[in-house]
Amino acid sequence: MIDKYQTLLNTAKSRYSETRKFFKTLKKMKSQELDQLFEKNHVRYSEEINCLDCANCCRGTGPLLKDRDINRLAKTLRTKPKRFIDTYLLRDEEGDMIFRELPCPFIDNNNFCIVYEDRPAACRDYPHTDRHNIKKYLKPTLENYRICPIVYLTIEEIKNTI
Ligand code: SF4
Ligand code: SF4
Repeated sequence: MIDKYQTLLNTAKSRYSETRKFFKTLKKMKSQELDQLFEKNHVRYSEEINCLDCANCCRGTGPLLKDRDINRLAKTLRTKPKRFIDTYLLRDEEGDMIFRELPCPFIDNNNFCIVYEDRPAACRDYPHTDRHNIKKYLKPTLENYRICPIVYLTIEEIKNTI
């Protein structure tokens, strides 16, 4: 990760406590209003941030994989779903399938995803700040504040707006 993004995430860690309090304000807002605020800033910062200079989500946290993700990736890798699971995945305490190891086995040295076209849906949708009814997704968004520069900048801009 480039220094500029690391600095943002260091600041996010130091502001986490105040941000957690700020999320109580967000919880009181109307759902539609919140969606508009997030969407606008998500678009702005997704354009400003270059994920290839970051890759923190692929290196530091992994997606949950659904059956359809597993079947698609197994096909891409020309293997059987069971073999794919045995090689790459394990079940977490909540019963979800996750990668056995981090960084993700499919990220290369230049931060490219080698299964990009067929990556899990959770990777495709990350960091989820443009999802409908974000109000129901505030808890993981608060966690992503410390992981993803797009989320950090989105939240900081929302702090300045309301
Ligand atoms: S989505 Fe966020 S954490 Fe992932 S590479 Fe892009 S900026 Fe980094
Ligand atoms: S599958 Fe691709 S996008 Fe998803 S975590 Fe791995 S490298 Fe990143």
